[in-house]
Amino acid sequence: MAALTRLLLVGPPGVGKGTQAKRIADSLRVPHISTGDILRDAVKRATPVGLKAKEFMDSGGLVPDEVMIGIIEERFAAGDCAKGYILDGFPRTTPQAEALERLLERLKLPIEAAIQLDCSDAVVVERITGRRSCSNKACQATYHVEFLPPKNAGKCDRCSSPLEQRTDDALDAVKKRLEKFHRETSRILPYYEARKLLLVVDGKGTPDQVFAGIRRIAGF
Ligand code: AMP
Repeated sequence: MAALTRLLLVGPPGVGKGTQAKRIADSLRVPHISTGDILRDAVKRATPVGLKAKEFMDSGGLVPDEVMIGIIEERFAAGDCAKGYILDGFPRTTPQAEALERLLERLKLPIEAAIQLDCSDAVVVERITGRRSCSNKACQATYHVEFLPPKNAGKCDRCSSPLEQRTDDALDAVKKRLEKFHRETSRILPYYEARKLLLVVDGKGTPDQVFAGIRRIAGF
């Protein structure tokens, strides 16, 4: 089987979509499209989209569909996805999935697989609330206070910048993000299942184990 290269990842917050998407992008040499990263960058730069998105993000809510669909249309207009892409964090609602399908049909780059990373709420809560990242944007190293601690508490091993916690990684926001996932995002699973595009990978193991599962299922 030829490797699948037009992919999206679906799973609860903290399951490791970002980590796995980066690895997939490196292996397949395709762009990693993370709507969370695009939004965080817009917030930092205080663009009109960033200003609109900030309060939804900080509280663990979802940014409105029309804003997100605009962002994704603009991203695909860059024209670098002919050999494939890995979508991380989009779509998160059924209207987003429908808009994406129409857009990719128009571009003749339809999704080949929606990969679900499956994991229990208890495991993702433990992972997310301990998550820390380097505050230096050029570095972006990530840590976990228990599973992957830095050598000096609160400081990046690579560049010594202070580590920070994402505002939406605090426990209350994490609970709300999980609730959103179960109430809204999980509805896109039957959407892709009905189109015979859904592939399920166990998201519980180490990053290496999960990546091996993805490679097996996507044939690369
Ligand atoms: P992530 O880094 O994917 O966990 O995204 C961080 C936050 O950005 C989410 O909790 C949402 O507030 C917002 N966000 C990212 N992608 C989307 C999307 N497709 N739809 C709505 N909100 C989104």
